[in-house]
Amino acid sequence: MLYNSTRNSNVKVSSAEAITQGISAEGGLFVPESIPTLTLDEIKSIGDMKYADRAFYIFSKYLTDFTEAEIHYCTDNAYSTKNFDSENITEISHLFDGTYMLELWHGPTCAFKDMALQILPYFLTTSAKKINLDKKIVILVATSGDTGKAALEGFKDVEGTSILVFYPEDGVSPMQKRQMKTQEGSNVGVCALKGNFDDCQNGVKAIFTNDEVKAELDKNGLMFSSANSINWGRLVPQVVYYVSAYAELVKDGEINLGDKINIVVPTGNFGNILAAYYAKHMGIPVNKLICASNINNVLTDFINTGIYDRNRDFHTTVSPSMDILISSNLERLLYLLTDRNDALIREWFGKLATEGRYEVSDDVKSKLKEEFCAGFCDDVQTKDTIHELFEKYSYTCDTHTAVAVKVYNDYKSATGDNTRTVIASTASPYKFSSAVLEALEGGVSDIDEYAKVDRIAELSKMPVPSALADLKTKPERFSDVIDKTEQKNYVLKTLGI
Ligand SMILES: *Cc1c(COP(=O)(O)O)cnc(C)c1O
Repeated sequence: MLYNSTRNSNVKVSSAEAITQGISAEGGLFVPESIPTLTLDEIKSIGDMKYADRAFYIFSKYLTDFTEAEIHYCTDNAYSTKNFDSENITEISHLFDGTYMLELWHGPTCAFKDMALQILPYFLTTSAKKINLDKKIVILVATSGDTGKAALEGFKDVEGTSILVFYPEDGVSPMQKRQMKTQEGSNVGVCALKGNFDDCQNGVKAIFTNDEVKAELDKNGLMFSSANSINWGRLVPQVVYYVSAYAELVKDGEINLGDKINIVVPTGNFGNILAAYYAKHMGIPVNKLICASNINNVLTDFINTGIYDRNRDFHTTVSPSMDILISSNLERLLYLLTDRNDALIREWFGKLATEGRYEVSDDVKSKLKEEFCAGFCDDVQTKDTIHELFEKYSYTCDTHTAVAVKVYNDYKSATGDNTRTVIASTASPYKFSSAVLEALEGGVSDIDEYAKVDRIAELSKMPVPSALADLKTKPERFSDVIDKTEQKNYVLKTLGI
C-alpha cells in the first residue's frame, strides 16, 4: 500500500514515510492509494478478538511495509490495560432503544484522542527506524484542548522525540489547561497562544512547511512531524474502533451481520468522522454518517450546501474541542469524493487560504448528501441534552457527546429513521466539569474545579478517573503565553536553534 498526497497524486510514499513526514511537502495530506476491504466474515471474526488484535488486523491492511512483529509491538504496547481503564479499551453503553454510546475515553487523558495518540509514538519511532532516519523527531502540536494533552502523554520520555504543544489561551477548559501545564516528562513543552485554535493550527502548519525553518532543523539533526490528525498515523487507529464496535454489536446479538447502522460523530477537525467514512468503505454496513457541530457550524452548512465558508464569527463554546472553522481532514474526504482529483483540491484549498471560501462541484454535493447528514446545536441545547440524558437514563455524558446526541435526536424526529445508531462518545464528563455540573444541577456553581468533579461523582455514581483526581496536587511546570507572531521564534528558541 502506497500513499498519495491530496495535492499531488504523483507523490507515492510508504506508510512509514507518510507517518514520519506528517504532511506532504507541497502541503497536501497523505491518503492510502486505495481503501482495503473487509468481508462480512472477516468482520464477524474480528468480534472474537481482543482490541489489540482487532487493531493489528486493520493495520496489517494499511501498513503493509511494517512487519507483523512491528505492528504487534505497536498494538500490544498501546492497547493494554496499563493505559486504559477498560478491559475492552472502548466500552459500548446501550443508551435507549437501538442507540449505543461508543465510549472512546477510557485512556490516560480521558478523551478519544488517546485511542490514536497512545499508538502514534510507536508508529513514529518504528517508522523512523524502518527508513533509517537518524534525526530526532520534533512533534509540533496545535490543540483545541484534548489533542495536546493526549499527545504529551503519548510522547513523554519517548526516546528520539521531543514535543511542543500550543493551545489557545482562552479556548480550553480549566481542567484541560491544568492537565497541560502540569505535564511531566523531560522532552515536553507547552505554550499558550493569544488567539483561537485556528491561529494555533495555521501557525503550526506554516512552520512545518517553511523551508528556511526546515533547513535550520536539518542542520541541527532534527526534523518535524505531526501528531495532529493531519498525520495518517493518527487517523488509521480511529478506523479500528468503528470496525470493532460493529463487530461487537454483532457478537452481542444487538444487530445481525450485514445490518446497517448510523454513526453520529461530534466533529471538529473532521478526523473522527473521516475514520468512520473509511470504516464504511472498508465494508462496515453504514446507512448515514451524521456530522454534529456546535454553533461553529461551518461543516453543517458545507454538507447541506456544498459551500465551505469560514468567513464568520468564531465562537467559544462549552464543547471547545469542536470550536474550529477550518476542518483539515475534509481535504481527504474531498480528494476521495472527486475521485482523487488533486487539481481540484489545489484549487479549492487555494481559495480557502486566500478567500476563506470555496464551493464544490454538483457531483461532490450529491455524493456528500448521499453519505452524510449534518446538524448543529447551541450551548443551551447541549446542556439541556446532558440534563435530559441524566434524568431519563441516568447516563452522564460530556458536552461534546451531548452535541452528537442532540443532533441525532433532531435527525431522528425529522426523518423517522429507526436504523440502529452508534454515537461516538468522545470525552469523559469529568473533563468538562463546569458545564456538565451546570447542566446536571441547573445553575452556575462557584465551587472550584475539583469540588465540581467530586459533586459530579456524587450525582453520577461514576468513578473519577485517577488521572484527573491526581491533578489537584501536581505542580505547574509551564506558564508561557505568546503572541501568534512570535510562534516561529518560540519554536526555534525552544529547540535551542
Ligand atoms: C477532538 C475532539 C472532537 C472533534 O474530533 P475531530 O476528529 O477533530 O472532528 C470531539 N470531541 C472531543 C472531546 C474531542 O477531543
